[in-house]
Amino acid sequence: MKDSDEPKPLSPATIAIHGGTAARHVDAPVVRPLFQSVNFIQEVGSGDGLRYPRYGNSPNAEIVQERMAALEGTESAVLLSSGMGAVACALIALLRPGDHLIASSTIYGGVTALLTKEFPSLGIDVTFIDPFETRVWRKRIRKTTRAVFVESPVNPTCRVLDLKPISYLAREHGIALVVDSTFASPINFRPIDHGADVVVHSATKYLNGHHDVLGGVVCGTASYVEEVRQKMMLWGQAPDPFAAWLLERGLKTLDVRIARHNENAMAVAEWCNEQDGIRRVHYPGLPDHPDYAVAASQMRGFGGMMAIELASGAAAERFLAKLRIFRHAPSLGGVDSLVSEPRFTSHAHLTRDARAKAGIPDGFLRLSIGIESANDLIGDIEQALH
Ligand SMILES: *Cc1c(COP(=O)(O)O)cnc(C)c1O
Repeated sequence: MKDSDEPKPLSPATIAIHGGTAARHVDAPVVRPLFQSVNFIQEVGSGDGLRYPRYGNSPNAEIVQERMAALEGTESAVLLSSGMGAVACALIALLRPGDHLIASSTIYGGVTALLTKEFPSLGIDVTFIDPFETRVWRKRIRKTTRAVFVESPVNPTCRVLDLKPISYLAREHGIALVVDSTFASPINFRPIDHGADVVVHSATKYLNGHHDVLGGVVCGTASYVEEVRQKMMLWGQAPDPFAAWLLERGLKTLDVRIARHNENAMAVAEWCNEQDGIRRVHYPGLPDHPDYAVAASQMRGFGGMMAIELASGAAAERFLAKLRIFRHAPSLGGVDSLVSEPRFTSHAHLTRDARAKAGIPDGFLRLSIGIESANDLIGDIEQALH
């Protein structure tokens, strides 16, 4: 075949719609139908190709898996029933009793709880490190260290990690680098291009994007993803076909949604940055954000997550009570704009002082910017501030 006959690599917008094998014969449905069945007829005299949704091979899960692998640039991917299921199976597929895991100290609260409450009883030792203290990383590596787990951008301060030094270190020591890329989505950031070995997502957030599906994804090499699939099967973490069907539908608009999330969050952050009633704005797209340079060089968009600081907890509550478009709800990454107060959600287990030290003083509000009109969102914030 001549070079000119090679298909050109497709862009993410196209992959999000067409990634994975779709039937092209006359009369084939354009949308993969929902196979709401847990049983499939088996060949007589053979155990090959046994289909059962808990094995991760329902037709609706398979198309999402193929599409996610294409979006993240990995050989393979597996869809699970939640983001927590994805993180848990991704890590237990890598770690054995006696192994050591290094984890960033700024990760999703549920994952922190998994690593501190469950992993010790599996015989897995975990060390948490401030991901911005790169020099400390090298000192904490042991002979038994098998994996490094980080999240970027970080909830709720929107800090962005420079993956380069961490991935060099991991490579040098033959350690797997696992990145929770939920906040970025593959449109804004592809961790594999920056040295990661494994990418995990809570598909509940941007991948589905409509506040109506719980799911998780693990992406990596085919042999590793097969190990994760084995854990998923045995620990019962597989998704229901309907969740997979909804997620496939959500993925089709991923590129346009993320473009609008990026654009809206930038507009809202810039406006908020000018307001006297707002003490501080956290958004990596603002040049005064500590990680602006890293985000600008590694990411293709700054994302839809941001945070603002009001004068006090009481001021934050008055603000929340007045909002008409933003709704007070703890999740993120969907088309509807949401606002949450980390002191009552992800950081409720810390004291007030410990929260302030972590950069989350009372009055701190996390905004998940949706895809409504940016002007309407700004108008809503403006009327609630006054
Ligand atoms: C929500 C979230 C998770 C957990 O995902 P679920 O789908 O709720 O289980 C993990 N990591 C990050 C960064 C998240 O935001």
